[in-house]
Amino acid sequence: MKKIFTNITIIIFLLFYNLTLSASSKENFQKQRGKMVDTILEHFLIYGNNNFEISKSVISVLKKVPRHMFVPKKEIKLAYKDRPVPIGFGQTISQPFIVALMTELLNVKEDNSVLEIGTGSGYQAAVLAEMGTKVYSVEIIPELIERTSKVLDQLYPRIKLLIGDGYYGWEENAPYDAIIVTAAISHIPEPLIKQLRPGGKMVIPVGNPYTSQELVLIEKKINGDLLLHQILSVRFVPLTGGH
Ligand code: SAH
Repeated sequence: MKKIFTNITIIIFLLFYNLTLSASSKENFQKQRGKMVDTILEHFLIYGNNNFEISKSVISVLKKVPRHMFVPKKEIKLAYKDRPVPIGFGQTISQPFIVALMTELLNVKEDNSVLEIGTGSGYQAAVLAEMGTKVYSVEIIPELIERTSKVLDQLYPRIKLLIGDGYYGWEENAPYDAIIVTAAISHIPEPLIKQLRPGGKMVIPVGNPYTSQELVLIEKKINGDLLLHQILSVRFVPLTGGH
């Protein structure tokens, strides 16, 4: 009888210990997200030149999405630093400031459909889904999508994923209200322009894929004309594939 009591006491203790531990690490990650957002706000002040600022909706989404779940366990300490983090296969999860900026530039509304090229860790897709959009994301490395889809299925099951060469977009669900390309390319892919809805916006790093690029915002006017804005010098991993 005494032994049963001891066992029950141990189980209750472990349960309680685990609960307090997970509550405190949850709080800790939330605190780290708050600090990450402060750093992003500083960056917007420095680079924004009053041309762009971050909206309340993007800030609140960045405070919500658990970025630490999108980085490999061994990199968890870097999850909320304002820097890119390696995610394996020679790829990186973009710096939080860049994710914030690209999300802001797309100016998405709830229920918009958004195409992402370069799923990677899935973090940018998660941020867009948390904004209330329908996200379609294409990734060329199958092994990467395998890991990412497990995280997304758990947190954002509405996001649709495709393994393939994103240069050609994802025609089946076109047109999109917004398109985001998270890998660098020397030119703007024609198939993506075609799949962008008139009135829609695209952000893409254009330039030498192996050095640095310009982040370009493209507005597709209702009559199909394109308006290009150069936003900032950036460094992305190259868009690979057969183009
Ligand atoms: N948006 C990602 C950033 C990933 S880095 C995130 O939030 O983590 C860029 C990603 O683009 C890499 O995963 C890379 O494998 C992918 N990529 C490169 N070329 C591609 C192509 N042609 N089609 C689809 N994905 C591509």
